Amino acid sequence: MAKIEMKTPLVEMDGDEMTRILWKMIKDELLLPYIDLKTEYYDLGLSYRNETDDQVTLDSAEATKKYGVAVKCATITPNGARMDEYHLKEMWKSPNGTIRAALDGTVFRTPIVVKGIEPCVRNWEKPITLARHAYGDVYKNTEIKVNGPGKAELVFTDEAGNETRELIHNFTGAGIIQGMHNTEKSIESFARACFNYALDTKQDLWFATKDTISKKYDHTFKDIFQEIFDGEYKDKFDQAGIEYFYTLIDDAVARVMKAKGGFIWACKNYDGDVMSDMVSSAFGSLAMMTSVLVSPSGVYEYEAAHGTVQRHYYKHLKGEETSTNSVATIFAWTGALRKRGELDGIKELMEFADRLEKATIATIESGRMTKDLALITSLKDVTVLNSENFIKEIRKTLEEM
Ligand code: NAP
Ligand code: MG
Repeated sequence: MAKIEMKTPLVEMDGDEMTRILWKMIKDELLLPYIDLKTEYYDLGLSYRNETDDQVTLDSAEATKKYGVAVKCATITPNGARMDEYHLKEMWKSPNGTIRAALDGTVFRTPIVVKGIEPCVRNWEKPITLARHAYGDVYKNTEIKVNGPGKAELVFTDEAGNETRELIHNFTGAGIIQGMHNTEKSIESFARACFNYALDTKQDLWFATKDTISKKYDHTFKDIFQEIFDGEYKDKFDQAGIEYFYTLIDDAVARVMKAKGGFIWACKNYDGDVMSDMVSSAFGSLAMMTSVLVSPSGVYEYEAAHGTVQRHYYKHLKGEETSTNSVATIFAWTGALRKRGELDGIKELMEFADRLEKATIATIESGRMTKDLALITSLKDVTVLNSENFIKEIRKTLEEM
């Protein structure tokens, strides 16, 4: 059978540890035999980031802006231990943070639902998609540890030199201070990304903040969403038969637990960080979650939501067998290939992506899966596979289809 041809290359961002091993297996077994794969390759493995003073990360983000679609492997965010392990020149920043800042996007995460892996929350019948604002707030904070009494103030100086001051606190002893920000531009693009995604997927959109307490900061998020919705999206939502619903974050959390699912939950950056881990683990596992960064300019970066699975990698290095779940990484590839096919008008590429996802799900539903899923499945007579054999079984299913 002739391989599927591509027009525009995907931006391929390779990564670290166990996911780097899976990356190669997925390409060799599931992609290269079927697609004349065109990629522009960037090695975001920590060694090469260090060698290039992290320039490779910036270059990969620029390439994503140029070509429009990227697929990213999980990468190490260095900490103290990694400084020694990889002899780093600097504690390089999180590549995800760098790429998100460059693309100014919103991250959408949706659980991959399979029969036999039921969510812990019994009433969740459909997936809940989390839309996480990927810029600012506590992730771009400035902090001071106060050692003794004194006055803390918030000061803004405009371009003409006028100052606005607000008292934060008169300290009578030691304490802590934090300053953070967001921009109207970023919040507006977050709002539009969410409204567009809701229309694309025909699902209701929920958004929540703590605007009763944070009367200027969070209230601005609420107001911007409402203005953009009323001005640009209300009619389109009516036509699509979907709703935009705003509430307080604590009310949203309570309602989510009682809901049936099948909607998009938009969260500010920190809420999204925390809630996406809750939603994904309740649906099964981080390895059963798709994740895509959508920028306001219409650029897409597909990734797995989990990390580099370090513990498995060390086992792998010792020659021991691993059973690492490659589903999220496979779906990062299928998401990117489908989008590339859509943008370039290559139907075969889109159909291949659908088929590979179906084959992956069918393999699990037939009882062949990795250990993490075997531990939580309700299926009987399960075969636990190692990392490589799971991917090979998916290939068999794909061939049968
Ligand atoms: P992790 O890689 O997500 O793994 C944590 C644990 O979750 C694993 O030890 C494993 O549990 C389980 N797990 C995660 N993914 C799995 C998979 N695909 N299949 C089976 N089990 C899976 O998080 P981490 O160990 O805290 O972080 C490792 C590195 O990843 C860090 O250097 C961090 O900076 C980086 N990281 C990268 C990203 C990203 O690039 N997207 C995101 C988060 C973290 P068991 O050990 O119990 O089997
Ligand atoms: Mg997190």
